[in-house]
Amino acid sequence: MSNFVWCHGPSCHKSHTQDRIRGVKGSKVLRTKKVTQDRWNSGIDLSMYSYFCSQGCYNDFANKHVREVIAIAPRTEALETPVSIERVESTTYGGHKYMETRILTVDN
Ligand SMILES: [Zn+2]
Repeated sequence: MSNFVWCHGPSCHKSHTQDRIRGVKGSKVLRTKKVTQDRWNSGIDLSMYSYFCSQGCYNDFANKHVREVIAIAPRTEALETPVSIERVESTTYGGHKYMETRILTVDN
């Protein structure tokens, strides 16, 4: 028994690829691709590849539905990550000395 979902790309069925061709002669269609649910794209490994056959279909979906997607978790203010900044002297492979800025994450 195959466990799958249909690709959620809004234009998946319009891509001209041979693996989308279905139907009998004289009544052919391009069909949305199946996305097989396996241990790599479902359960604890859930990712966009659980619902989309390709990065392109994911991008098409995200671009078409960006307002709805953003409404799920709108960012109304900036987030901040506490850091400390260090200026340290470093040396290039060629022996040239220069000052380097290191950004270190601070636990809080
Ligand atoms: Zn697709």
